[in-house]
Amino acid sequence: MRITIFGGTMRDVIIIGAGPAGLSAAITLRARDKSVLVISNPREQSGLYRAERVDNYPALPAITGAELSDRLYAHAQSLGVEFVTGRVTSAMTTTRGTSVSYGSEVEESRALILALGTAQSSTLSGETELLGRGVSYCATCDGMLYRRRRVVVLAYAPDAHEEAEYLRGIGCDVTEITSKNVKIRGTERVDSVSVDGVTVPCDAVFVLRQTIAPTSILPSLTVVDGAIASDRDGATNLAGVFAAGDCTGAPRQVAKAVGDGQRAAFAAVKYLDTLKGGV
Ligand SMILES: Cc1cc2nc3c(=O)[nH]c(=O)nc-3n(C[C@H](O)[C@H](O)[C@H](O)COP(=O)(O)OP(=O)(O)OC[C@H]3O[C@@H](n4cnc5c(N)ncnc54)[C@H](O)[C@@H]3O)c2cc1C
Repeated sequence: MRITIFGGTMRDVIIIGAGPAGLSAAITLRARDKSVLVISNPREQSGLYRAERVDNYPALPAITGAELSDRLYAHAQSLGVEFVTGRVTSAMTTTRGTSVSYGSEVEESRALILALGTAQSSTLSGETELLGRGVSYCATCDGMLYRRRRVVVLAYAPDAHEEAEYLRGIGCDVTEITSKNVKIRGTERVDSVSVDGVTVPCDAVFVLRQTIAPTSILPSLTVVDGAIASDRDGATNLAGVFAAGDCTGAPRQVAKAVGDGQRAAFAAVKYLDTLKGGV
């Protein structure tokens, strides 16, 4: 069911990640007539897409990663799954469900499936402590706060340079850094970064990675040893939030991701059925 509220659209389920886990979940949800929005980085940038040959996925021996990904995508699309391209930077559970932010956009759903792939779990020194106090994951969301000020872009994602250009375009004084040997400094707010021992003064640091630690997206999510803690049905510690695929831990394989996605979808359907008074 897809309902429009306050000018926005409330989907049954938002899925973050268009890998095998996310697409499998989307296919199962559409077969149960649920409205589904998948928000993901471009599939072409995923590890699977670049795999020359996948030999162990049942019935499709010697398929390329790109073809497998394309087939899953085409299947989901043919069933009416909606897709948008973007990097999700945060999500929040609300009384109505979940609200998910990517770029300057926000989408809402009753349930959420995290299918993030191998989750980025390590953070830079100072990153977590100064998040929201000069540390940001999204140039288009927070850039205007730093017009005519010095900002550092930690360019770890393929599209990071474009985001740096956006910041320059709105008048920020931008230093782009690709080194991973970075410490973010400041007490109340960011005041500098130290890169390979050199100090670069700045008012903000945009950490632009392809993936973001699950706990940076949803701070109250339980993560154990870098994997989202979930039961066999993908249920996490947060009501209405499910996880599937590589982000839940080993084995990190396509077949397991597809199975996880299906189980998480079934669990999400069950969860949606239990919601009282939902429209
Ligand atoms: C080179 C290579 C070869 C491989 N070969 C095989 C093989 O032969 N057989 C096999 O079974 N497995 C293989 N694998 C492993 C397989 O690709 C993974 O197990 C599988 O893709 C996991 O699926 P997933 O959906 O959990 O995650 P992924 O396929 O990683 O998909 C997750 C997607 O979510 C996106 N994402 C993450 N965070 C965000 C965010 N914050 N906002 C928006 N999007 C986000 C990612 O960019 C990615 O596109 C290989 C992997 C690689 C890298």
